[in-house]
Amino acid sequence: MEEDYADLRDAIQKLCAKYPGAYWRKLDRDMAYPKEFVEELTKSGWLSVLIPEEHGGAGLPLSAAAAILEEMQAQGCNGGACHAQMYTMGTLLRHGSEEQKAQYLPQIASGTLRLQAFGVTEPTSGTDTGALRTTAVRDGDDFVINGQKIWTSRAEHSDLMLLLARTTPLSDGMKKTHGLSVILVDMREALGKGLTIRPIRTMMNHATTEVFFDNLRVPAQNLIGEEGKGFRYILSGMNAERILIAAECVGDAKWFTRKSVEYAKQRNVFGRAIGQNQGVQFPIAKAYANMRAAELMVKEALRLYEAGGNPGAEANMAKLLAADASFEAANACIQTHGGFGFTEDYDVERKFRETRLYQVAPISTNLILSYLAEHVLGLPRSY
Ligand SMILES: Cc1cc2nc3c(=O)[nH]c(=O)nc-3n(C[C@H](O)[C@H](O)[C@H](O)COP(=O)(O)OP(=O)(O)OC[C@H]3O[C@@H](n4cnc5c(N)ncnc54)[C@H](O)[C@@H]3O)c2cc1C
Repeated sequence: MEEDYADLRDAIQKLCAKYPGAYWRKLDRDMAYPKEFVEELTKSGWLSVLIPEEHGGAGLPLSAAAAILEEMQAQGCNGGACHAQMYTMGTLLRHGSEEQKAQYLPQIASGTLRLQAFGVTEPTSGTDTGALRTTAVRDGDDFVINGQKIWTSRAEHSDLMLLLARTTPLSDGMKKTHGLSVILVDMREALGKGLTIRPIRTMMNHATTEVFFDNLRVPAQNLIGEEGKGFRYILSGMNAERILIAAECVGDAKWFTRKSVEYAKQRNVFGRAIGQNQGVQFPIAKAYANMRAAELMVKEALRLYEAGGNPGAEANMAKLLAADASFEAANACIQTHGGFGFTEDYDVERKFRETRLYQVAPISTNLILSYLAEHVLGLPRSY
């Protein structure tokens, strides 16, 4: 695996310096999309590093993408607005036809096409993906799509959506993860013709939405890979996604710890810096130690991934430990700031809300623990 990507981190730091807390605070208040930030990242090529060179990207390894996202978060920015542009194309890259790759990847690499909407979760199925109800029924040269997705983030800021829908009805004895297919939906053509997108207001500014399909026609040639194998295709991208989100959490934890230390040194109460009190130092030090442990797990997952492995256990553990570490660091940071931790001006409460998400999405802590219990420890399947 590569070293620490010092030059790349330096470039990201410089870019992020143009988007300080005040920029994110305003967006947060208005629940608005960080258009300028995302455009600059796109133009600078940072969102296409994972696309192979022959398709117009930089062809860098996953560890480079992890370094980019970690650094963005460590600088106080929010990669959640665009991280999916980096990795959603992985399904197309691994399972798409040569024609599909030639048609879409160069445009995704240049940023003229945004593929950062991922429609899997539904209101009634939740974590139980196999129970999803959105259907895609073949009719001539089209699929006709009906159903609903929820939490389809960035749908309003994406041209394409990677959709998981049921193409074969569930029948007795059939595994419910079978009969699902991945279809690329061109939302520019579909909006108003069977596709409706409604934003959902959440506790943090994440541009998430619910999406409704009402007899939406999508060309059958937009099917990715083989019909009915979509669940497997989606799973194949999960480890990379988990590692990258874990890297973001490590970045968040670094930001919180830096803020805690700076504040604890300069805030004077009882005639001395609050950071002189062990009661203030210890939670920060403990969160730091846990961040470093999580960081090592992220590196281990990256090492195995880049050696050609499929490190489900390490990717899941990295995500679990890093999400816990970032939330611990966030909590310590609020506590260190006392009342000021709750004011908008310090950015701590905003980042606190943002990093809390990663205990639930893209996979919740319980489901990671279930995975480890069953697949690593050999305990009985619990669901
Ligand atoms: C802001 C945001 C953005 C998102 N972006 C996307 C996106 O772009 N695309 C997309 O497809 N999805 C997205 N998601 C969905 C996300 O992946 C799901 O919210 C998550 O997987 C949990 O599913 P759920 O919300 O339906 O919770 P549920 O499945 O209803 O679970 C609720 C709680 O019960 C627990 N639970 C459920 N079953 C078990 C079990 N068997 N054992 C133990 N605990 C269990 C869960 O861990 C969770 O804590 C997003 C979610 C949010 C909040």
